[in-house]
Amino acid sequence: MKKNFAIIGLGRFGGSICRTLIEAGQEVLVMDKSEERVNEYMNIATHAVMANAQDEATLKSLGIRNFDHVIVAIGEDIQASILVTLMAKELGVPFITAKAQNEYHARVLEKIGADKVVHPERDMGKRIAHHLVSKNILDYLELSDEFSLAEIRVTNKKFCQKSLLTLNFRQKFNVTVVAIRRGKNELIVSPSASEIVLIEDCLLVVGSTDCVRNLDDKLG
Ligand code: ADP
Repeated sequence: MKKNFAIIGLGRFGGSICRTLIEAGQEVLVMDKSEERVNEYMNIATHAVMANAQDEATLKSLGIRNFDHVIVAIGEDIQASILVTLMAKELGVPFITAKAQNEYHARVLEKIGADKVVHPERDMGKRIAHHLVSKNILDYLELSDEFSLAEIRVTNKKFCQKSLLTLNFRQKFNVTVVAIRRGKNELIVSPSASEIVLIEDCLLVVGSTDCVRNLDDKLG
């Protein structure tokens, strides 16, 4: 489905979102106050505008409220990030994602009505740390305060050459296997109960963070 996105701020974060959305065939307007950044994205984004987003008249004249989703990707300048989020909200943008620099910034963004607040550095730090402390967790995503999704490699022979039905992870470990990654190219999504787990398979599991950790200890 095609959506209209507007990205305000073309640092590493905003720029990466822009490129990925364009690759996914979406319409993307980008805005930055830096001429250099705007020139860089002129031939990438659908539209590139050089303007200070803190100017409400500019946001209005661009028809910001007609965008399905606005991403406030201003990094360093916390005051600008807050003001732009507030104005976009007041102008009636249906969905705003805002990037937070720290916990206080995140709280303010949530209070003033950002629909989603992201902390890319903190979240990526956590993902990498989980990978570093566990030999089997390849990737890790917090879904909420309580639940996580993890990709865990099976290196314990005890769990191999057995079907998911026999392994019964849901009853024994309270986690659900949502997919199995096998080798470089094979991804078995929603595996059936009869699927046999092989050594070095990577299980994508969802469950409470404690249960996921517990399973990680056993699978290795
Ligand atoms: P990152 O950590 O993602 O690289 P930066 O803080 O380096 O983030 O980049 C944020 C971008 O937002 C910069 O390109 C900056 O010019 C832009 N920016 C900051 N304030 C405004 C504003 N008021 N209006 C438009 N763009 C802005």
